[in-house]
Amino acid sequence: MTDFFYKLNRKDFLDDQYKDYSDFDNPLPIGYGQTISQPSLVLQMTRELELGKNHRVLEIGTGSGYQTVFLAEFAEAVYTVERIAELSHKAKSRIDKLGYKNVHFKIGDGSHGWNEHAPFDRIIVTAAAGRVPDALIDQLKTGGKMILPVGESNLQELVRITKTNDGKIEKEHLTLVRFVELVGEYGWGKNKY
Ligand code: SAM
Repeated sequence: MTDFFYKLNRKDFLDDQYKDYSDFDNPLPIGYGQTISQPSLVLQMTRELELGKNHRVLEIGTGSGYQTVFLAEFAEAVYTVERIAELSHKAKSRIDKLGYKNVHFKIGDGSHGWNEHAPFDRIIVTAAAGRVPDALIDQLKTGGKMILPVGESNLQELVRITKTNDGKIEKEHLTLVRFVELVGEYGWGKNKY
């Protein structure tokens, strides 16, 4: 995965005015008040997902499409949902240009997940929720894992959820992060702990 990390150019996911900053390990604006995460965090989140080549992955928050490409490279299929149409269209054209055929895009409120294609082996949410949306737990396969930032709007814990074979939900706290808010029916502010 590290080889791929060095091969994939973050420049390709940034607007012209930010391309010069692509090598810095920090978040950058992608328009519409949203950000692309720092590369090291994208790498960490992808690793913590423990992807397999046969996995179907749900991603909430397509953003620039940078994280999506990591998922597409190391899993079988990616279902990615973004609420801002312009970002989704831009991400799709970048990902098409790179030649990936295993990414499916949807524009809408990802706090509902994507029921038509559930259940998923892996789920990753790249926007902060006040609590884990129930719809996403329901759409996770038994034995599946989900990574998401959960907490207050200015600081969250990155959490890994595992749905165990006996149907229990296990939660591990990985690190502290700061993501933009998951907007939507089951997003931040509506369902705080
Ligand atoms: N992983 C992305 C990347 O590599 O560029 C960055 C994602 S950005 C931090 C979070 C994204 O989540 C934004 O594009 C935002 O519009 C999106 N978002 C927020 N709430 C959402 C929702 N309810 N459904 C779908 N997307 C949502």
